[in-house]
Amino acid sequence: MKNIKFYSTNLKAEVVDFKSALLKGLAPDKGLYMPQEIPSFTKEEISKFSQMEYYEIAFEVGRKFLHDQIPNADLKAIVKDAYNYEIPLEKVYDRKYVMRLDQGPTASFKDFAARMMGRLMQYYLDKVNRELLILTATSGDTGSAIANAFYGLDNIKVVVLFPEKEVTNRQRKQMTTLGKNIQIIGLDAKFDDCQYLVKEAFSDSELDYLSLSSANSINIGRLIPQIVYYFYAFARLRKSDEEEVIFSVPSGNFGDMMGGMFAKQMGLPIKKFIIATNENDEFSTFVKTGNYDKIDPSKNCLSSAMNVGHPSNISRLIALYNGVMNETGDIINPPDMNKLREDIYSTSITDEETKNMIAEAYELHELLLEPHGSVGWAGLQRFLQKYHEFDTEDQLCISLETAHPAKFPEQIRDILDFDPKLPSSLEGLEEREESYDKVLNNYEEFKKYLVNNY
Ligand SMILES: *Cc1c(COP(=O)(O)O)cnc(C)c1O
Repeated sequence: MKNIKFYSTNLKAEVVDFKSALLKGLAPDKGLYMPQEIPSFTKEEISKFSQMEYYEIAFEVGRKFLHDQIPNADLKAIVKDAYNYEIPLEKVYDRKYVMRLDQGPTASFKDFAARMMGRLMQYYLDKVNRELLILTATSGDTGSAIANAFYGLDNIKVVVLFPEKEVTNRQRKQMTTLGKNIQIIGLDAKFDDCQYLVKEAFSDSELDYLSLSSANSINIGRLIPQIVYYFYAFARLRKSDEEEVIFSVPSGNFGDMMGGMFAKQMGLPIKKFIIATNENDEFSTFVKTGNYDKIDPSKNCLSSAMNVGHPSNISRLIALYNGVMNETGDIINPPDMNKLREDIYSTSITDEETKNMIAEAYELHELLLEPHGSVGWAGLQRFLQKYHEFDTEDQLCISLETAHPAKFPEQIRDILDFDPKLPSSLEGLEEREESYDKVLNNYEEFKKYLVNNY
């Protein structure tokens, strides 16, 4: 096996090993780390996945990237500990499935990445007796997944900033009822303001002594775990070695989708990759026209975790197709658009269509979707209607459901007239004691808070 090193998409930073890329997050030239080479599996290796548990597939995928960075036994222990929950593959009709990535401790797919990344960070910090302070801004799901995954770890403290008026009660309680090494800060401001404070802190050299690090999807440590469930779903559902699969992914910052694109490069036979977004349609427009214009400010849609007007991982996708895009979204070198269009179909789903699909899926198939999963499923339906040659009974299609419907009770009740049943991870949340601090929306105030508390 080759040793995989990581380069920056801006091409102006040193090549580093996985450990440095993980602990740094962003490259010093503000680019994102990408593997210099993408390792691959043989057909025989992929067919063996059908007999493996999820964590064993996670180990095989992880090993391809990390075999020189962490001993096999340690990696196996990490993935076994991280992936102790179900991944249901729900048949909808013919060979059309929904993969539910919502059974983790915070009921969103972000658990998959956060749990492995947290454990890997802890592993490296233990070795060198170092501490990290993770700063993260959240519009809801990232904060709770990170807080949960890092809860109780010895060498890592976490500070999460959230906009008090923009998260649901349930989302807030998932963060504020933890305590220990997790500190939550509410701001009377917008998500963009929270993100701004975090970015200022990262570039403030007076805070260097805090060893700040980032846990959002610019971190390559979040992408490697997101390769695994694509292999898992195919391994469980495939009927033959010749079969090819279509995936549909509801997308915001494009981290989930990048996991799938890596899986394809590694040998997973993906016939078409559907990238479905909400009304923030900068990417589907780009695929159509070749021109990229970010949407600023981003539009507020029902699928709130996907309200992104400039997906941070898009520069990784461009790099995969031999182009260069800088951190502000300028295309320095155009990618191979023909190849990209051959592999990817992208479409934008309006809020109206999102709601209608929640109703229709339930009525026709008793399929219960929340707004993000509805965007993915609607994207798949649109693709199959448009390209009849793919719309056969035998064609395997898998759409990703990225959050549990019970995280969006008001919206589901509005459309379907009932309350989705709570998964066990969310039970008892209402009664737990909450605690969080408040900080004024002002960088000097936030800095004072950090200096006084850490
Ligand atoms: C974060 C999130 C997404 C978007 O994932 P990206 O990797 O940012 O594209 C979709 N659905 C839910 C529920 C999320 O929390």
